[in-house]
Amino acid sequence: MKVISLAKVRDTIKDLVQKANFELQDDVLKVVKEMEEKEESPAGKEVIKQILENAAIAKGEKLGLCQDTGLAVFFVELGEDVELQKDDGLGSLKEAITEGARAGYEEGYLRKSVVEDPIRRKNTGDNTPAYIHWELVPGDAFKVTFIAKGGGAENMSAVRMFAPAAGMEGIEDFVVETADKGGSNPCPPIVVGVGVGGNFEYSALLAKKALLRRPLGSHNPDPFYADMEKRLLERINNLGIGPQGMGGRVTALAVHIESHPCHIASMPAAVNIQCHSHRVMNFEL
Ligand code: SF4
Repeated sequence: MKVISLAKVRDTIKDLVQKANFELQDDVLKVVKEMEEKEESPAGKEVIKQILENAAIAKGEKLGLCQDTGLAVFFVELGEDVELQKDDGLGSLKEAITEGARAGYEEGYLRKSVVEDPIRRKNTGDNTPAYIHWELVPGDAFKVTFIAKGGGAENMSAVRMFAPAAGMEGIEDFVVETADKGGSNPCPPIVVGVGVGGNFEYSALLAKKALLRRPLGSHNPDPFYADMEKRLLERINNLGIGPQGMGGRVTALAVHIESHPCHIASMPAAVNIQCHSHRVMNFEL
């Protein structure tokens, strides 16, 4: 049985949310640099250059990569053989994660972007609640993945319930249509997470997981979906939207697909759009 202190979880999360908001990770920087080479439009190239300059300044001066520091979204993989030690006044894992996110956003001067109620719109003032997705796994693993999810990109996401007859082509057209509709709103070049299968709500969760399961630009281990990712990236980049909508060849950095079994009568699909400020980071204890 592995024992993990809740205070340690809180403190690790406090640092993690700041680091993720200050530093683009190596896999993201690598793809952005590759895309700078590929971009043919001078305006688009200049935008990518500025994205890289911005990343260097944010890291050096410990400033948010973007003014929208996002909803704090966590995916937790909790091993069945992990014992959580309640310490420092923390009574649950949810509380430890929430307190870590609250303290990190406060300490890092990161924007507080959560409202208490979707219609009445009063800011909660501390960027909580955090959005936590739980997965119970065998063994004593404990892994937390964080993604800062800005509103501009999240707003351009979509879910659609297809009949199975729509096939692969129906889903591919939906993904391209969603990227096209988004235009410059999600701050391209975007990262496109696609969830295929499951059911209505599960497909949306898969699409978000697709953004953070693998290093950026890596392909699905199933060659069928890897080919689909390559085709979709090419089609989206042929839309001509370009970096920040300035026109060009680079509208997306990557397309990642996750799939899951589904009902015989359904073929759900979801597209979760992420902006170039792709702030993902994880830790294991
Ligand atoms: S979509 Fe991304 S880059 Fe654009 S404002 Fe929101 S967080 Fe910032």
